[in-house]
Amino acid sequence: MRMSQLFTKTHKDAPKDEAAVSAQLLLRAGYVYKQMAGAYVMLPLGLRVFNKIIGIIREEMDAAGGQELTMTALQPKEPWEASGRWDEKVVDVWFKTRLQNGTELGLANTHEEALTGLMREYVTSYRDLPAYVYQFQTKFRNELRAKSGIMRTREFVMKDLYSFSRSQAEHDEFYERMKATYTRVFERVGLGGHTYMTFASGGSFSKYSHEFQTLTDAGEDIVYLDRSKKIAINEEVYTDEVVKSLGLDKDKLEQHKASEVGNIFTLGTKYSEPLGLTFTDEDGSVKPVIMGSYGIGPARVMGVIAELFHDDRGLLWPEAVAPFQVHLVSLARDNQEAEAAADQLYNQLSDAGLEVLYDDRDESAGAKFADADLIGCPLRLTVSPRTLKEEAVEFKLRSQTDHELVPLAKVANAVAAKLAR
Ligand code: ATP
Ligand code: MG
Repeated sequence: MRMSQLFTKTHKDAPKDEAAVSAQLLLRAGYVYKQMAGAYVMLPLGLRVFNKIIGIIREEMDAAGGQELTMTALQPKEPWEASGRWDEKVVDVWFKTRLQNGTELGLANTHEEALTGLMREYVTSYRDLPAYVYQFQTKFRNELRAKSGIMRTREFVMKDLYSFSRSQAEHDEFYERMKATYTRVFERVGLGGHTYMTFASGGSFSKYSHEFQTLTDAGEDIVYLDRSKKIAINEEVYTDEVVKSLGLDKDKLEQHKASEVGNIFTLGTKYSEPLGLTFTDEDGSVKPVIMGSYGIGPARVMGVIAELFHDDRGLLWPEAVAPFQVHLVSLARDNQEAEAAADQLYNQLSDAGLEVLYDDRDESAGAKFADADLIGCPLRLTVSPRTLKEEAVEFKLRSQTDHELVPLAKVANAVAAKLAR
């Protein structure tokens, strides 16, 4: 991608109405555009990061046996009435709308009802189970607070997977698999070591649910963390009794602010019973399907990554989610030879399969370096008449201050070696 063609631009100053550092940086660097409070546009740079996070989640959901579909955001009210969740006293975040003939519709804030109804069409026998179904779909929630940039918005994409099992044992086995799957997802996006499985309230079918909480002062939750055991307790269930029952020692727990990047939940028959999702078991008896739900917010993950990985000059993306692996800065200005060399390097790296953001604009070195730091790609390469005199390129990691000269002929290898670490 040539920066001269990128329609977005960076901004020097942070908007005054954003409290979260992640939102300030993402707005300044041109990753997101604020449509209004609680609603953000993913700009080309932001969409690349967002899609990388989604790609990692998708790979892991597929590996766990998930099958992807896309539900509708527009929802009829009947299944929600059946589950008792159409009522705004029960669900306080509803956005509702109407057809021209007056029929009420809801904008989905979650998809248990819709998917449970859909599955009735396909699940009748024990042979049809288990089934694991997921999507990346927009949820609408009229959240009271929307002060955390893209970490809490009123319209957001959620990865929601739902499990449909024959028995509690079959459910439990998948639930354990998802704990491992989620741990891998958060490691792969760069949040491993900052994210802890957290015991949280479980509803009527299980004592606990499990949240994945990333430690950050920008988070809205409080957790009590046992670092050595790598588990935490959400303050909503934090009591002496719970601490003891989990084999933890209250004196060893650290209190921390954290952001919930994902959660897994045993639903039992909460939706299958009222919505009539049953199956005929091997012995001929008719039973309700046992369900679970498993959510991740990719944009919240992106915001939390930005909260954790930045310095006073800008963002520092983990490689797996960086919009581009390489930020190639050309300081050729009017030197045609240097310009040709930079173009050639851009083509060479792109042909080698690297993702390169190429700053071919007519800007000062200072402005280009400031933008590279703000945008935060892992590796910066600089080509100038000065480096070309030595037939070399300046090579610098975003996370380090020192740089080195790498011979032109060896750049592709040097990049591959650095990025493979
Ligand atoms: P929270 O407690 O933060 O309100 P939740 O418990 O309501 O979240 P779920 O309904 O289980 O969350 O959603 C699954 C995931 O979707 C969350 O773990 C989070 O990553 C993400 N998410 C939830 N609400 C939002 C939101 N308003 N904006 C962005 N992402 C969200
Ligand atoms: Mg929650």
